[in-house]
Amino acid sequence: MAEEEGYEQGAQPGQFAQYVPIPELDQAPVNILCPYCGANVVTTIRREMGTFSWIMVVLLAFFGGYCCLCLIPFFVDSCKDAVHICPNCGKQIGRYKKM
Ligand SMILES: [Zn+2]
Repeated sequence: MAEEEGYEQGAQPGQFAQYVPIPELDQAPVNILCPYCGANVVTTIRREMGTFSWIMVVLLAFFGGYCCLCLIPFFVDSCKDAVHICPNCGKQIGRYKKM
């Protein structure tokens, strides 16, 4: 019984409510099926200050509180979280957290 007519697919853009499992995210862009627009995309990475970054700021301020050492995490991408953005619809798909 494979009769499921009357159900139109893709008729309502923006109503893409199908659950798409998001694979383990990393620092690097990943090939993913966007859960929002349904496009198969390679994510764009945006770096944001995360918990790890702020801990680094505090630690550096404690132990090397001279110069502007504690500001290093603001400029070092590897200290930051990686936010994965869909280049097609511009929505945030997921976030790789350092901590
Ligand atoms: Zn998208």
